[in-house]
Amino acid sequence: MAAGEQDGPVLVIDIGGTKMAAGVAEPGGRLITWTQVPTAHDVDGEHLWRILEDLLLEVLEVAKIPGPEALSGIGCGCGGPMEWPAGLVSPLNIPAWRGFPLRPRLAARFGSGGGPVRVHNDAICAAAGEHWRGAGRGKRNVLGMVVSTGVGGGLILDNRLISGASGNAGHIGHVVVYPEGPACVCGGRGCLEAIARGPGLVAWAQQHGWRPGQPEMTAKDLAADAAQGHGVAVKALRRAGHALGIAIASATSLCDLEVVAVGGGLSQAGQLLFEPLQEALAVHARLEFARKVRVVPAALGLNAGLVGAAALVCAGDRYWTAG
Ligand SMILES: [Zn+2]
Repeated sequence: MAAGEQDGPVLVIDIGGTKMAAGVAEPGGRLITWTQVPTAHDVDGEHLWRILEDLLLEVLEVAKIPGPEALSGIGCGCGGPMEWPAGLVSPLNIPAWRGFPLRPRLAARFGSGGGPVRVHNDAICAAAGEHWRGAGRGKRNVLGMVVSTGVGGGLILDNRLISGASGNAGHIGHVVVYPEGPACVCGGRGCLEAIARGPGLVAWAQQHGWRPGQPEMTAKDLAADAAQGHGVAVKALRRAGHALGIAIASATSLCDLEVVAVGGGLSQAGQLLFEPLQEALAVHARLEFARKVRVVPAALGLNAGLVGAAALVCAGDRYWTAG
């Protein structure tokens, strides 16, 4: 076994503003079992931790793991920002957790097996999962993207996850695509995320006459209407696809990528999103090496984050740089 690899079952977790997922993975990344619950938003931080704790106990029981001491490690993806690698998390979309000691809590409650307990950004985990066992398998230079409520990403270069100075490398959602564009939640302007995040798309479409005055509408509704040929809905997805293509062209020129795997809820819109993406990419990625990049839908779907969380532990030599 190579350094950094594990031989027993791994507890895997994926925490976002919409859902908390947990499972048990074999060392090779196959999920023995997994389940998820909606992320509770009407509870305090301690209550949310207890919900997660119950979820983890449940998957251990279903997987017939006798106790935490039988685990060879714990891998966890969580929405950012966070203090990394310490694992103190302050997810933008989970206000109840600000500086919440997620990694220390996991280690104290489920770490008696003595294996590594590793927490990283959820989009980075999804990218690691796609590189390890999904659409980027076998390629050495991959950008994994999650296009959903936000736009996240993770970067694998020369077969290794790039973490950066503070664990935040790969934040393609905050690459600027239209400097005069809408304000972004990060405080900047014209970021990819400001244009292509689901709620941003919905807001733009409603301003342009799609289902005005229906605040409950989501990007999923928008994509469904676009599939039916609703003009404004189609334009909204074209706008997002175009912005994605520009950002991917820039990233490809910078990093000499082979594959970009695009996942997250919005990627389910299929050709309505990917066609304008490819058009913009063809216009903006002109250098010979950059023209070779392949942009593909993510292969692991909802499980990318959990599989990537397993990769942090089971293939730490490639996906964990913090020592
Ligand atoms: Zn931004």
